[in-house]
Amino acid sequence: MSARRLDGTAVAGAIRAELQAPIQAFLARAGRPPALSIVLVGDDPASHVYVSGKERAGQQAGLAVTVHRLPATVAADAILSLVERLNADAACDGILVQSPLPEATGLGRGHRVFDPAKDVDGLHPLNVGLLAQGRPALAPCTPSGIVELLEREGIGVAGEHVVVVGRSEIVGKPMAALMLARDATVTVCHSRTRNLPELTRQARILVSAVGRPGFITESMVRPGAVVVDVGTTPVADRQTIVELFGADSPRLASLETRGSTVVGDVHPAVKHVAGALSPVPGGVGPLTIAMLLRNTLSAAQSRLG
Ligand code: NAP
Repeated sequence: MSARRLDGTAVAGAIRAELQAPIQAFLARAGRPPALSIVLVGDDPASHVYVSGKERAGQQAGLAVTVHRLPATVAADAILSLVERLNADAACDGILVQSPLPEATGLGRGHRVFDPAKDVDGLHPLNVGLLAQGRPALAPCTPSGIVELLEREGIGVAGEHVVVVGRSEIVGKPMAALMLARDATVTVCHSRTRNLPELTRQARILVSAVGRPGFITESMVRPGAVVVDVGTTPVADRQTIVELFGADSPRLASLETRGSTVVGDVHPAVKHVAGALSPVPGGVGPLTIAMLLRNTLSAAQSRLG
């Protein structure tokens, strides 16, 4: 068997196209585009790449995107006062603080200080609580994108056993809440889970958000299962790429050109056993960005009333 490819790029393109008319309608009503402010602290290369992608996508969609770049040495108070300013700014609809924040800031993800109405990452405790209650909320972009991917690929979740590997605030936990709200039977696994393969093999839909290249192997997947790969780990080591993809893989060329290549949690051989599989890259990543645009538009519309 070779798994059907779940094309996140195509689904994200469709979502972005659907946002065009409501963004134009907002512009006509408000006299300005929906506005997203991104706070980027420090010089983590992956964060810079992600923020550039979000900035570009936002601008292409017709949003006003402002990136506030702060040095890694910035004091926590300076970040907090920037967020307070953005909270008070009537022309700012959405705030995103790119994670990870440098540890020295001591802020974790810092979302408690956000105006929940501008929390486009869906991490403020109020939004987390609404999501847990199954009520409308700004929900985290990555799991919301996975919901869209499954729906638009015609994969029903009601009554199905969904196994989520990973319990982070930004992916695993909200993924479980969104699936539960859609009547799935949900199992959440993490680093302390015993007999992980026994659990993952029960999944009709398996979502992996661990951050370890090739972690989900063939023997962990039920034949015909839908497998969603959230992991994105930059790998710079040639030997790892050869072991995962083979010595003649185009991945090696990408590694040589860019110095690293992004690898998912799901081992490439899983395609022989899964029924459907989201690739990395081109799976969940583009959906995360599309949902950020959608959350920004929703926040802007709600604030306009
Ligand atoms: P995270 O906060 O580091 O969480 C990783 C989770 O994996 C934790 O819950 C951890 O368990 C669990 N885990 C670690 N080792 C495990 C093991 N041996 N067995 C079972 N579970 C294990 O990461 P995250 O922020 O959720 O991100 C996960 C991955 O998704 C990363 O590669 C990240 O780059 C990627 N990501 C991609 C997108 C996208 O748009 N494509 C968006 C967000 C994240 P404990 O809780 O017990 O430590």
